Amino acid sequence: MARVTETAPAAPRGVTGMGYARAPESRDLVRLGAEYGLYIGGEFRPAVEGGTFTTVDPATEEPLAAVADAGARDVDLAVAAARESSEARWGRLRGRDRAKYLFRIARIIQERARELAVLESLDNGKPIREARDVDVPLAAAYFFYYAGWADKLEHAGFGPSPRPLGVAGQVIPWNFPLLMAAWKLAPALAAGNTCVLKPAETTPLSALFLAGICEEAGLPPGTVNVVTGAGATGASLVAHPGVDKVAFTGSTEVGKEIRRRVAGSGTRLTLELGGKAANIVFDDAPVDQAVEGIVNGIFFNQGHVCCAGSRLLVQESVAGSVLDRLRQRLATLRLGDPLDKNTDIGAINSAAQLEKIRALADSGTAEGAERWSPPCRLPERGFWFPPTVFTGVSQSHRIAREEIFGPVLSVLTFRTPEEAVAKANNTPYGLSAGIWTEKGSRILWMAQRLEAGVVWANTYNRFDPASPFGGYQESGFGREGGRHGLEAYLDV
Ligand code: NAP
Ligand code: MG
Repeated sequence: MARVTETAPAAPRGVTGMGYARAPESRDLVRLGAEYGLYIGGEFRPAVEGGTFTTVDPATEEPLAAVADAGARDVDLAVAAARESSEARWGRLRGRDRAKYLFRIARIIQERARELAVLESLDNGKPIREARDVDVPLAAAYFFYYAGWADKLEHAGFGPSPRPLGVAGQVIPWNFPLLMAAWKLAPALAAGNTCVLKPAETTPLSALFLAGICEEAGLPPGTVNVVTGAGATGASLVAHPGVDKVAFTGSTEVGKEIRRRVAGSGTRLTLELGGKAANIVFDDAPVDQAVEGIVNGIFFNQGHVCCAGSRLLVQESVAGSVLDRLRQRLATLRLGDPLDKNTDIGAINSAAQLEKIRALADSGTAEGAERWSPPCRLPERGFWFPPTVFTGVSQSHRIAREEIFGPVLSVLTFRTPEEAVAKANNTPYGLSAGIWTEKGSRILWMAQRLEAGVVWANTYNRFDPASPFGGYQESGFGREGGRHGLEAYLDV
C-alpha cells in the first residue's frame, strides 16, 4: 500500500533539484507470529480463558498479530511464578550473578537492535530513526547501567544490607514500550526482585520480544513474566495481594485510581504520571539551537512524551523572530511512513489518542487561540496529526493546562524571569522543564525555582541511565534511573 512520505519542501531551503528519495528500513527484519502468548514461568502460553486481542500498525491500521488477553487467573499464575522464583531462584542469587544475566540481556538487545527497532516502529508508529537511535540503545543502556549496581547495593547509600522487596507488579504505557519495560525491569532485577510486567494494549510486542531475550539470556523461569491485556489486566495486577511493589507509568487519572486501590495494603508504590512542561526561551538564547530544542521538545515521538516541552514560554522581545524561525523549521519536517529513515513525524499511536488530540486542539481554536500547521498532506489510512502550533494562548486555555500528548505546541510569552517562573509553575504537574539562555547564573536561578523533577538547560529530552527521572505533584512520586531508582525496589 502506498504511503505518503512527502510533506512540504522536499529539499532544504536554497537547495533545488535535490528531493529526498525514500529510504525505507526493511520490514522483513521482523518475522511476526500470527499469535502471541503470555510469558509466565518461563513459557509462552495462551490465556487461561483463551481470549485474544489484536494489535495494529497505527500507520496503516493493518493488524499485526493476535495477542493473549490475560484475565485475573493468568495474573494469579504470573504472580505465583514470580513468587516462586523470588523465593527459590532469583532471590537467592548473589548480586554478581544477577549482574551477569543483566549484562547478557543488555548485549542481546544490542545484537538484535535492528529487529527490535523495526518491531517497535511497527507496533507504535514512531519513526524508525527514533526507535533505532533512542529507544533501543537506551533500553540496552539501562540494563548495562543497573547490571553494574547489582553487586554493589550495599554501597548505594541505603545502609549496609538493603534487601529486595519481592514481587514487583509493573504497568507501562504505549509511548516508549521497550524503553519503559527496561526502566522497570532493570532496576527491579538488579535489586533482586522478580517481575510481572503489563505492557499497554496497543503496544505489547516489544515487551514480549524482551521476554524472549530474557529466555535467551537464561534468566531463571518466573523471574520476568509478561501479562498482556488492557486496563483490566493492569487493574488485576496492581490489586493482587501477592504483589509487594507496584510501579506504574501512565496517566495521572489511572495513577490516582491505583493509589486509592493500593492505599492501606502495605504494598510499596511509585507513580510516573503526566506532565505539561514549560520550555523557556530567553532573549539571549542562541536562536537556531533553541528552535531545534523546541522542535525536539514537542515533536519528538509525535509529542507522545510525558516530559514533552508542550508549553513554549518565549521572552516577548524575541517572540516574533523565534516563531518565524520555528515555522520555517517545521515546514521542513517530514511526516509519513515510520519505517522511512527520513521520517521525522510518525503516526499517532491509536484512534483513541488521535481523537483526544483533535478534541483538545479544537478546544484551543474555540477558546480563541490561533492555530497554525505547516502545509502537510496526511496519509489517507492510519492515525495522523500534523505538527501544530498555537499562539495567542492564555493560561486559562485548556491547551495551556491539560496534557495533550500529541504534536501540539502552546506558545505563551513572558517579560521577566520572575514571570517565566510563575507561568512555568502554574500547573498541577511537575515533571520537567527546559531553559534556553547563555547565562549560567540564570540557569541556576531558574532551576532552583522551577517545580519540576528534571530541568534541562540548553537541551531537551535527554536521557541517561545514571540520571534520576520523576515528578512532583500530579506528575507522581518516586524516581527511576540512577542510584535513586534502586530505592524503589529495596527494603532500606
Ligand atoms: P494510561 O491509560 O494510564 O495507561 C497506562 C497503563 O496502565 C497501560 O498499560 C494501561 O493499559 C494500564 N491501565 C489502564 N487502566 C488501568 C487500571 N485501572 N489499573 C491498572 N492499569 C491500568 O496511560 P496511557 O494513555 O497509556 O499513557 C499516556 C500517559 O502516560 C500520559 O499521561 C503520560 O504523561 C504518561 N507517561 C508518563 C511517564 C513518566 O515517566 N512520568 C512516561 C510515559 C508516559 P491499556 O493501555 O491496555 O489500557
Ligand atoms: Mg500497536
